[in-house]
Amino acid sequence: MAAIELRSTRTDHQRIPFLDALEKGLADDGGLFIPSAWPKIDWDSLSRDSFSACSLDFLKQWLGDSIPASDIEGIVSEALSFDVPIVDLAGKDAYQNIYVLELFHGPTLSFKDFGARTMAYLLGRKIQQSGGRATILVATSGDTGSAVADGFAEVEGVNVVLLFPEGGVSPVQEMQLIARRENVFPLRVRGTFDDCQRMVKGAFADPALSGSHLTTANSINIGRLLPQMLYYVWATKFLDSDEVTFSVPSGNLGNLTAGVFAHLSGLPVRQFLAAHNANDFFPNYLQDPTSAFKPSVSTVSNAMDVGAPSNFERLQGMLSYSEISENIWGTAVSDQETMLRMSAVSDRTGYIADPHTAVGIEAILRFRKEMGGRDKDPTVVLSTAHPAKFPETIQKVLGTTAEEPERLSSLRSGATRVQEIEPTQEALRQVVLACEG
Ligand SMILES: *Cc1c(COP(=O)(O)O)cnc(C)c1O
Repeated sequence: MAAIELRSTRTDHQRIPFLDALEKGLADDGGLFIPSAWPKIDWDSLSRDSFSACSLDFLKQWLGDSIPASDIEGIVSEALSFDVPIVDLAGKDAYQNIYVLELFHGPTLSFKDFGARTMAYLLGRKIQQSGGRATILVATSGDTGSAVADGFAEVEGVNVVLLFPEGGVSPVQEMQLIARRENVFPLRVRGTFDDCQRMVKGAFADPALSGSHLTTANSINIGRLLPQMLYYVWATKFLDSDEVTFSVPSGNLGNLTAGVFAHLSGLPVRQFLAAHNANDFFPNYLQDPTSAFKPSVSTVSNAMDVGAPSNFERLQGMLSYSEISENIWGTAVSDQETMLRMSAVSDRTGYIADPHTAVGIEAILRFRKEMGGRDKDPTVVLSTAHPAKFPETIQKVLGTTAEEPERLSSLRSGATRVQEIEPTQEALRQVVLACEG
């Protein structure tokens, strides 16, 4: 079977094999990797038995012989060995035919586990096969850091150095970041998220670290999008419909772009809804293509606080403006509207939606209203995080707390590791050299 090949969003003269693109992250010209041609999937041949059976069938066809069949099996059975339930909200009126695709049953309770664990699996295999070592640097302000740390925790030859801003992450997120793991070195930086990002960039340019095999697992890596196609495919198979509308709570537009990847590979999709919080660049763009990026503002759905979505360049590299605005409908939801919707969903259906998922459900109701009905259409909201990750907001809005999964409560009494450092290049250099020691 043919292998998938990738090209840059900026120039079209190079073809890069999948694993090389995964290792490089960015193309040489600074662009992002996208497929140079779309694989033809035989949709009827995909299993409807389970998420893993369906995913295995899909990946074999999508990747061709880009990676060994045993590694495709490893991704599915090791990296993605958690449940992907589809919950019928079973509401009435405008709440009917809404399904919650729960993507938060991985080890760190957000959908970031899909991408981070797949990358960890594939990069880990590559590093082990070459007998090499690597140090992964990640600046984090949300769910990515803990997913990456957890994903690489047992990978031999790899150290992970996590930088997060003091006072800049939620108490639950901090607890997840500083959980003691082999080979993971969390740093509480006395500075801002921007300081953390600057230090990571600086480390790549630091001559004293030139022998350190630094790499990063950032959100634009093609390895993160690969597994994010799988649940769109599974939901379509599970609902046995080629008319599904997907509502995607969005920040950097990685999840939405993965859906578009699947669609361009032939997956039938009725409509994508881009559900944003007050960071409204993309919904504005869908109305007016001359709209510009904006500085980010902070909201209760903080993992979507992105002013300049990194995957926007990918969408533009794959589709024309009219194709984008035809396939994707967008809306921006304020904090107040988010919390009202959390409350209404709980009242009407008994379901506790985290703030990100609530933005997605609000988008569905607005879309149905604007289109005058569509209540009969099967509509899936991607539920990107477990409500127990946001106890403060859930308590404030619903006057209760979501039941805490064991994975989270066990952290409360578990061992931790964290080092406080100044926001300087020198401080990060010391840590990187010491952890290699
Ligand atoms: C990262 C994240 C998002 C946004 O996903 P993108 O791929 O950046 O659009 C939404 N919800 C949660 C909980 C997240 O962690």
